Amino acid sequence: MTDANLEQSDLKQSLKQNLKQTLGQVESMYDEALSKPSSDLILTETGIITFVGGGIAHVEGLPKTQSEEILLFPGNVPGIAIDLGEDEIGVILLADDPLIKAGASVKRTGHIADTPVGDALLGRVIDATGKVLDGGSPLNIHTRMPMEREAPKIMERAPVKVPLQTGIKSIDALIPIGHGQRELIVGDRQTGKTSVAVDTIINQRGTGMICIYCAIGQRGTAVARVVETLRDAEMLEQTIVVVTSGEDQPGLQYMTPYAATTMAEWFRDQGKHVLIVYDDLIRHARAYRELSLLLRRAPGREAFPGDIFYIHSRLLERSTQLSEALGGGSLTALPIIETQAEDISAYIPTNLVSITDGQIYLSPGLFRKGLLPAVDTGKSVSRVGGKAQLPAYRAVAGDLRLAYSQFEELESFARFATRLDDASQAAINRGRRVREVLKQGEHQPLTVIQQIAMLKAVNEGLFDGLALNQISVTQKKIADALQQQMKPLATKIESGEKLSDEDWQSLVDFLSGIIKQ
Ligand code: ATP
Ligand code: MG
Repeated sequence: MTDANLEQSDLKQSLKQNLKQTLGQVESMYDEALSKPSSDLILTETGIITFVGGGIAHVEGLPKTQSEEILLFPGNVPGIAIDLGEDEIGVILLADDPLIKAGASVKRTGHIADTPVGDALLGRVIDATGKVLDGGSPLNIHTRMPMEREAPKIMERAPVKVPLQTGIKSIDALIPIGHGQRELIVGDRQTGKTSVAVDTIINQRGTGMICIYCAIGQRGTAVARVVETLRDAEMLEQTIVVVTSGEDQPGLQYMTPYAATTMAEWFRDQGKHVLIVYDDLIRHARAYRELSLLLRRAPGREAFPGDIFYIHSRLLERSTQLSEALGGGSLTALPIIETQAEDISAYIPTNLVSITDGQIYLSPGLFRKGLLPAVDTGKSVSRVGGKAQLPAYRAVAGDLRLAYSQFEELESFARFATRLDDASQAAINRGRRVREVLKQGEHQPLTVIQQIAMLKAVNEGLFDGLALNQISVTQKKIADALQQQMKPLATKIESGEKLSDEDWQSLVDFLSGIIKQ
């Protein structure tokens, strides 16, 4: 072996040893790092914004992002990943910040979009992320649940069997709603849609029902009015108001009803009964359309994306009556939809009519005539609530519907006739009184016995001898008298017992007594 060869093998030897040593060091460092979770060592995946505009962003370099994961943008603005492409992901931003620009970096959080839940939300006005909007103290809540949750499975549901009283005569008698039902409130602008929903919330006072009013894209003054009304009626403490305004990012508007539903489900899953109002879903659909167009999804009918039906059914499927095994809680939904020029067959209204279990149609024509609430009983229907309706209503509703529909036909005909036979004249007189009795002021919910008594009175012809303008005063008298007397009958009706002929007779006698006075 030559000297040169010897030198080379020495060098190899020492190199090997050095390498071994270094590897050993690295290994022990690695072990050490793994053994103690170090607080100053946080791994984050960061990506780069490639496009921002209209409330959405495209981000590159975060291939492991999960669907609906929260990503943090500059200025700590959260965004939700909804389009997971191969190279790029589409993110909806929940707020705005001047620092969000193409080229800026974005961090993954590993969390799915969630919302606060709990008792502490009651009486508060908040947004979908839990931001306080009522100027009160910050929320002291540490429990959060995903905004998007799966709807209960078929076997976990029970049929609708408990009535949900709205306190509005025309609805409780003719279009009854039950716990766990989804009943659409539909009508043109300014027809009293919000009033029907808010009055239903007010009527839940003393029932233990938790209410959620979810305002989507409403004017701030309109929401403030609802909050004031609820406070005046002492119902705010039992209600959560979840708000997103028209100025908010479309992403936040889109997520808000899902978040509000999660807040409702928290109560439902504890066996409580919850009522949620979505005011309104046409604005929700528009926010989603805006996002989808920006995310370059193919537009369909009325430029709405193809999955618009799915996003609404996914939302409303979460409302149901749970089975006894799951605690027997319920979530009843009153989604609101504004129509244009009474076109209920437009894309979004028809979708919702087919998703829900019925609709309350509010007619601008009736509203103009001052027939408030402007419920068009002919175009309204409740597909499941009838099974839950109290038997006393069933006893009066049939006659009422018949008298009213005969009257509507006759009235339009009578305009051309010079002379009417006595029977027709009587039917018209009765019908006018039925119409008068179905009128009801805003924020004046009636108890079950009050409603039953007034409907019975008109059916029995007790109002036939009164002038039309005397009827409302007389009804007021009846309502007051019933509050003091007839308590046992009220309990009987509310407990769902069938009334005997004597019960009915005693009610009729009582009513004729008051009317005669
Ligand atoms: P928008 O399209 O603006 O949301 P809307 O359909 O929700 O309107 P509301 O705001 O509920 O309608 O009501 C419109 C107006 O009608 C309000 O001024 C309200 O006070 C009045 N109103 C509603 N219902 C009644 C009623 N039963 N009696 C008297 N006034 C009523
Ligand atoms: Mg409204």
